[in-house]
Amino acid sequence: MQQILMTNTLTGKKEPLKLLDPASNHVGIYACGVTVYDDCHIGHAMQAIYFDIMRSYLRYCGYKVTYVRNYTDVDDKIINRAKERGISPAKLAADMIAGSERDMRAIGVSAADFEPKVSENISEIISMIQTLIKNGFAYSTKTGDVYYRVRKKSDYGKLSNRKPDELRSGTRDIVAGEKEDDLDFALWKSDTTPDASWASPWGKGRPGWHIECSAMSCKHLGKSFEIHGGGRDLVFPHHENEIAQSEAANEAPYANIWLHSGLLTIDHQKMSKSLGNHISIQKFLQDWPAEVLRLGFLMNHYSSNIDFSQSFFQTCHKRLLYYYEGLVAMDEYAGNTKSAPDKSTIEAFHAVMSDDFNTVAAISAINKSFKQARELLTSKKTPQKQAEVSAIAAGIREIGQILGLFKSDAASEVQKIKIKLLPSLGITESEIQAAINERKDARATKDFARGDQVRDTMAAKGIELRDTPQGTVWSVKFLGDE
Ligand SMILES: [Zn+2]
Repeated sequence: MQQILMTNTLTGKKEPLKLLDPASNHVGIYACGVTVYDDCHIGHAMQAIYFDIMRSYLRYCGYKVTYVRNYTDVDDKIINRAKERGISPAKLAADMIAGSERDMRAIGVSAADFEPKVSENISEIISMIQTLIKNGFAYSTKTGDVYYRVRKKSDYGKLSNRKPDELRSGTRDIVAGEKEDDLDFALWKSDTTPDASWASPWGKGRPGWHIECSAMSCKHLGKSFEIHGGGRDLVFPHHENEIAQSEAANEAPYANIWLHSGLLTIDHQKMSKSLGNHISIQKFLQDWPAEVLRLGFLMNHYSSNIDFSQSFFQTCHKRLLYYYEGLVAMDEYAGNTKSAPDKSTIEAFHAVMSDDFNTVAAISAINKSFKQARELLTSKKTPQKQAEVSAIAAGIREIGQILGLFKSDAASEVQKIKIKLLPSLGITESEIQAAINERKDARATKDFARGDQVRDTMAAKGIELRDTPQGTVWSVKFLGDE
């Protein structure tokens, strides 16, 4: 089994993945999902795509993965938004979950093995709160709220490296005089909102945010499991509080490894509706193919922050064209020769992915394979060279399966991307065709200077003309680091 190193937020170190039961090859992963009060945006896509790739890679290595990603369908934001729209919180949440599923499939993220919702796990949550009260880690108030006793957990703060004494108030819902300590956070909130409150031993109410993940991860993965993930903005207080709750209730260590994905900015600004730079997944897909988004994320390490811009999307789009054109050319060259994936490509991929899922280096490995193939393509066809090219193409496609790239038919993708890129270059397809015809006429009359001039004029506009045995073809120039 491939040894896999991961950067653990808990220790701040890169560590090998250790299984609770090595004989089973089983890896449990829990990642915090979305609070369903609005459409999913590309920040949600970022976390979902990174964990999707980690899951695919672990499976590719032979691990048996159980991946759990929850929906927070009970929350203040949902209740407030539903009120604005004049619908019930449950109806709003159900609509948003359906939208999220549609968006995730559209960006190539397959469903998790379990996608639990808070509203369907109220009894599990109540029972965990009861255990916390019994163990002395929680208390109820006369107003029907239940709080976690932060100072009782001696190692509280171990994930975010914050000591309780350095914290003033880490919770959002402070009711003066109700709490024993300012630091204590809500496990259960007294509430009677229709469709968003449930009967409990402490009266009608609803769960606090943190307890849901402790209860749902335990239900599907057990008291202890291998990997817990989420966006870096969840480290404190959400994940810190999850650890405090789970370890105090279960009397067992919680997750072995904590993986946190970076955060997304647009043009160096936090994405927000009020700034007008908010990009929902739906909006993104109106402008770009889904693979542009995925490639953009792959070109960044999951743990780093990323800054997106329209020009970066454009670069990714051109790079995709370069890749797909390469695949078309390789297929043409290989003809009917079908080889198994090239071993060196696959080995290079494992070497970098097993080292903290280094997709940046995986993309470099892919670039190297394309470069190697392009060199072979310019040489005279021999059966041996055709087999080599076919093996490289097969290797690239195999890696693509794990990373979620190159799933479309290469030839038709090339056409689509080319046409889509033209408006940004300020040129039309018929203008390019006219240039190709002019070049053909010039060459027919042996006016090579004019022919070259046509080619150079096109090149200045970002269009590359290439002469092939079938005539002159055009493409959009890619000036990346291929
Ligand atoms: Zn969570």
